[in-house]
Amino acid sequence: MGRVWRAPGGAFLYVMASTHKVDVGGLLAGNRQRMVVDDRVPLAPFEGVTFPEPASVHLELQASGQLLEISGSVAATMQSDCARCLAELSGEMHLEVDEQVEAGSSLQNGPFEDSNVLAGERLDVADLTTQLICSAIPIGLLCKEDCKGICPRCGENRNTAKCECNGDS
Ligand SMILES: [Zn+2]
Ligand SMILES: [Zn+2]
Repeated sequence: MGRVWRAPGGAFLYVMASTHKVDVGGLLAGNRQRMVVDDRVPLAPFEGVTFPEPASVHLELQASGQLLEISGSVAATMQSDCARCLAELSGEMHLEVDEQVEAGSSLQNGPFEDSNVLAGERLDVADLTTQLICSAIPIGLLCKEDCKGICPRCGENRNTAKCECNGDS
């Protein structure tokens, strides 16, 4: 488990979860009003997109009854290949998080139905981050909007060279 301490002023509980798992039992039991989670989550490659650095995660958790409300933001750097010319490209992703997860496995539904985002009283920050990022990755990333792609006939990159095929493919 990570370190847990009270912030000066005692308003929030700050958690650094080295396991990327946060015990939200106190929140669900109503003993605690709010938790703040800051984490860095390494992400596995997904559909041709890689993440050279761990995602930065900032979450604020609140519970109303057995409903866990998760708000905050996730930021990640992604690298991929252009879908047309295969040039390497990278970009930043910034996601606003506004999710609700129901505690209790029999009640789970919604976007995280088939996941372990909330297993018992443990919020899996890594799983949550992975699901949010993966569902937000745009399909068919391009190096530039008007990327001319690779000539299907001679294999030349049409952004940088003019091939003889004249677009007649
Ligand atoms: Zn391209
Ligand atoms: Zn060509």
